Amino acid sequence: MQETKPIQLNERMHLIDGHDLGIKERTGIYVIQEEEITIVETSASPSIKHVKEGLKALGISLDEVKYIIVTHIHLDHAGGAGLLIQECPNAKVVVHPKGARHLADPSRLIAGAKAVYGDKFSALFEPILPIDEDRLLVKGEGDKLTIGPNCQLEFLDTPGHANHHFSIYDPISNGMFTGDTVGVRYEQLIPDGVQLFLPSTSPNQFNPEAMQRAIDRFKEMQLDAIYFGHYGMAKEPNEVYHQVSNWLEIYVNEAKRVYAEQKGYEVLAERLESLVREHLRGQGISDDHEVYNILQLDIEVSSMGLLDYLSK
Ligand SMILES: [Zn+2]
Repeated sequence: MQETKPIQLNERMHLIDGHDLGIKERTGIYVIQEEEITIVETSASPSIKHVKEGLKALGISLDEVKYIIVTHIHLDHAGGAGLLIQECPNAKVVVHPKGARHLADPSRLIAGAKAVYGDKFSALFEPILPIDEDRLLVKGEGDKLTIGPNCQLEFLDTPGHANHHFSIYDPISNGMFTGDTVGVRYEQLIPDGVQLFLPSTSPNQFNPEAMQRAIDRFKEMQLDAIYFGHYGMAKEPNEVYHQVSNWLEIYVNEAKRVYAEQKGYEVLAERLESLVREHLRGQGISDDHEVYNILQLDIEVSSMGLLDYLSK
């Protein structure tokens, strides 16, 4: 059995590893222990058993869970929400205005994922269950959610990765749950002393200007922490913005070249991967490092999104 011991991030927050795609330290589920127990992200349905184990380890019963917030409705963030809420009788799922109807009726999400994942769909995502509309709570730009006597979360509309994406500001830690808006953090490199943050530019609503605007907005807020969908917490947000903006420019420029050459996403992925490898080699990371199991997949999906964006 996989060990799911929640990681304590601060006095009132824990991180549970969802073992999404069967990979550790890939997708995180956050538990905020305020008066109203609040979960941020669920990962996909196969992760829910880890979420439940994690809550149990924290001494939290499922009927104590009040809010399950999903940053956006991609299946690796919200796919498990329908399954989890079945067992949380007092919870509501909090979602972006553009995401709500797809949680109530996930047929389009399912069809989309089946088209991409084919045979693997069932093992990676099933079951994807609809959520009753009266259990959905829609939050848009500037909306707030009180979860404790001193804690009012605030929602920011942050497209760039997806149009149905919000970010959640936690005033107590001066931190932001950014989903995929400011990219991916590679926990696998931390033991080697390397911090790597890459943009997540997957299809089919990626928009580089909107992504950069969200980054600029976060920068202005002088946050103390960023909580990533993938994966974990960064306590030096300026390093995150710097790296993600830099790589975003590199990604878009390389994509423009490949697009002009009328080549496919595989070519773009190959070029981007070799740029990232070169960068990591310079920091002492060998070419067979385990991080590449995830990195290759991320760059492949990001390459598809970049060319999709340019084709519009
Ligand atoms: Zn994601």
